[in-house]
Amino acid sequence: MACDQYSCSLTAPVMDVATGRAHLSDIWAKTPPVTKKAAQLYALWVTFQVLLYMALPDFCHKFLPGYVGGVQEGAVTPAGIVNKYEINGLQAWLITHLLWFANSHVLSWFSPTIIFDNWIPLLWCANILGYAVSTFAMIKGYFFPTSAKDCKFTGNFFYNYMMGIEFNPRIGKWFDFKLFFNGRPGIVAWTLINLSFAAKQRELHGQVTNAMVLVNILQAIYVLDFFWNETWYLKTIDICHDHFGWYLGWGDCVWLPYLYTLQGLYLVYHPVQLSTLHATGILLLGLLGYYIFRMANHQKDLFRRTDGRCLIWGRKPKVIECMYTSADGQKHHSKLLVSGFWGVARHLNYTGDLMGSLAYCLACGGGHLLPYFYIIYMTILLTHRCLRDEHRCANKYGSDWKRYTAAVPHRLLPGIF
Ligand code: NDP
Repeated sequence: MACDQYSCSLTAPVMDVATGRAHLSDIWAKTPPVTKKAAQLYALWVTFQVLLYMALPDFCHKFLPGYVGGVQEGAVTPAGIVNKYEINGLQAWLITHLLWFANSHVLSWFSPTIIFDNWIPLLWCANILGYAVSTFAMIKGYFFPTSAKDCKFTGNFFYNYMMGIEFNPRIGKWFDFKLFFNGRPGIVAWTLINLSFAAKQRELHGQVTNAMVLVNILQAIYVLDFFWNETWYLKTIDICHDHFGWYLGWGDCVWLPYLYTLQGLYLVYHPVQLSTLHATGILLLGLLGYYIFRMANHQKDLFRRTDGRCLIWGRKPKVIECMYTSADGQKHHSKLLVSGFWGVARHLNYTGDLMGSLAYCLACGGGHLLPYFYIIYMTILLTHRCLRDEHRCANKYGSDWKRYTAAVPHRLLPGIF
């Protein structure tokens, strides 16, 4: 509403309401409702993504050197199950974007501004799907779970709804809720939404500014990285530890596509053109952040895949050997990496992510707070995630985790935090 009615100002609506110039009901009354066109568009979009996910086995891994796709195994669940996944997100992203560009330059079936033009009506549709899938996951968890042994019931209905009951809900053998909802309607849409914002900026202001280009490029790198490494994503906290409820279901459908794209939306209303120096600085910050994020994640992945038989920064890695007991009472052996980025701080992958996030926001200049939402949110999310993860690791590894925190005392910023 701040963007739609107040050109992305957060203070103007607050001041209007505080001084009685407008009531919340006035703002609400001007909110575009859900439309038939938006409902059709959204239904088509989600159906198309389901088809790409379910009906098209991955072929990218057959010709792209270094890309790991096709059928892959996830991590061992607390109940000791190893799920199989069809990794074809890169393919889905490529096909979707090829069609988008074909439409923009040749086919002209629809205007590339279509997403911006239906932004709020589509928001209603995304909400309907987000709540529907979270509610369905809850009912499914109670009555027909995919794996009853991996369900978590806390006794608190609200918590169960928010944080989920089932660990890896599925329909049939292959439709995995976590993999589909996190990656497909949300992250594939991210780059399309940005492209639509760029098209709208050109339509309204006659040009695409360098700030819009920067936001498009830096976020596209992040999105492409996600799909290139979709197999690696199977080993992240979302898939390995979180249950599927509102937090992931609604978050993937609504929060991610609507709030991660605020910079592009802001730039439609405020077409910022940066000086070359400013733009270069932001590009470098974004690329450096991405490099740290990617390399830290890569080092841990390589280390775990090879069971420590690899080189990190050209040397044999330092290791802390650890033991833990899974929910079924089995004892397991694991290793913590103390070299490379994981020897500098315990979560430098998050630090790199934050540097990239800051770059997107800085591209929008200093005129408004709204585009800075992303860095504020990511700082809270990743700091909380870091503390949550460390709490879990401390419980899992006990004194071995203490040895790691003694060897690497800082979490995100060496010497500071
Ligand atoms: P990590 O990839 O950092 O995984 C944490 C896990 O790694 C721990 O639970 C532990 O698992 C293992 N681990 C911790 N320390 C070590 C070590 N020294 N050596 C080996 N293994 C270790 O966390 P996430 O899954 O949260 O994040 C993955 C990436 O996704 C990050 O780069 C993050 O920035 C990004 N991300 C982005 C989000 C966004 O919205 N844009 C949201 C969330 C994450 P184990 O039990 O296996 O030992």
